[in-house]
Amino acid sequence: MNLHDSERVSGVLGSCGCIEVASPDEADIVVFMTCCVREKADTHLYGQVSAMVSAPVPPSGRRLVAIGGCIAQRDGENIRKHMKNVDVVFGTRAISSLPELLVGALEGNGKSVQADVSEDDPGFSSDLPSRRETPWHAWVPIMTGCNNFCSYCIVPYVRGRERDRVFEDIVDEVSRLREDGVREVCLLGQNVNSFGRQRYGSPRFAELLRAVGETGIERIRFTSSHPKDLSPETILAMAETPAVMPQLHLAVQSGSTRVLKAMNRHYSREDYLALTDQIKSAMPGIALSTDIIVGFPGETEEDFEQTLSLVKEVGFESAFTFIYSKRPGTPAAEIDDPTPREVIQERFDRLAELVAQQAFDANQVEFSRTVEALVEGVSKRDGDVLVGHSPKNKTVHFRAPEGVEPDSLIGKLVEVKVEEARTWYLRGPMVGEPR
Ligand code: SF4
Repeated sequence: MNLHDSERVSGVLGSCGCIEVASPDEADIVVFMTCCVREKADTHLYGQVSAMVSAPVPPSGRRLVAIGGCIAQRDGENIRKHMKNVDVVFGTRAISSLPELLVGALEGNGKSVQADVSEDDPGFSSDLPSRRETPWHAWVPIMTGCNNFCSYCIVPYVRGRERDRVFEDIVDEVSRLREDGVREVCLLGQNVNSFGRQRYGSPRFAELLRAVGETGIERIRFTSSHPKDLSPETILAMAETPAVMPQLHLAVQSGSTRVLKAMNRHYSREDYLALTDQIKSAMPGIALSTDIIVGFPGETEEDFEQTLSLVKEVGFESAFTFIYSKRPGTPAAEIDDPTPREVIQERFDRLAELVAQQAFDANQVEFSRTVEALVEGVSKRDGDVLVGHSPKNKTVHFRAPEGVEPDSLIGKLVEVKVEEARTWYLRGPMVGEPR
């Protein structure tokens, strides 16, 4: 969602004549888009904004610094009080006001300006211009905000309650993107499965998936899915819509029903296992991935063992694993936890090892198969190696065939014969013609 917000910021400023420069040192305007889901991102932001004070002055002689996104929404007043080099602070729903705020800051002789946005703000950032980073892939927001209030999560406080986009607007946007040459869309929202509840009174995500599939777009992904809202209708729509990729990221967070209850997740271990069984029988071979928090306050060794056993039972092919990060203002932040840091770290390492082993095992299944990859660019480590993603969202590496300019393959769909299956990527020669 933050990546997408940054594209909207870029689009809004671009429509006012701004152009991108190669480094912040050259910029007349620097916009920091922020995230406060974890403590580390908070700390980084303050370091980076302070560093701008000593950055070289741009040729125009004046640099405006703006902070947007979740931290701006949460800490607006404090930022203005304590960070003297910040000119503009804008909340999560105030992207459209940015040009006006920048002009206000320029005219205000060094006085910073702030936009906060109330719950009933009718705007939706998706109606704003966007400057996509890639011509072949697009983020398409379908809803924003969250009503779930998981006890560790700051999102509902900074992104507000759920708000849906108009169904037809989303489908029209995907049709336009397809006409523009986009091959893959990712439908975005804090809780995509509940799309439609706020605007239409009941969820319409299954219907949306089918309608987006009918636009002719080649690949559809979506994130994030909450297990409690993933309905049988959606599972069926996924299975019956060929463009929906055979991959699902479904955050479980813990394998212990006791911890899930404390997290306010509204499902049990058994519910989650039953749900993933349904998914696997509707879409055999689907690649499941997840998010897991280690060290939630009060997590015992037994709770953690249940997480390990659930990871094995579901057979996740990858997982984002995190050590619990205390977010002030959330209910979980009030719970004291005597568990020593080393114990939590040791649990985290055991989980990471298991996830890596499962990722490796899952990739062996792809060995000697031919997989389709959407080519995204060249490898950061080796300029001759191209990188793409398979339908199951596995990273695929290959070299351009002799005589083919590597750049000409970016944005194309190619077939790769897997001759090497590592933990985090597949590798092999390209076969056939790109399309
Ligand atoms: S569903 Fe996701 S965004 Fe919403 S409160 Fe829970 S973790 Fe946060």
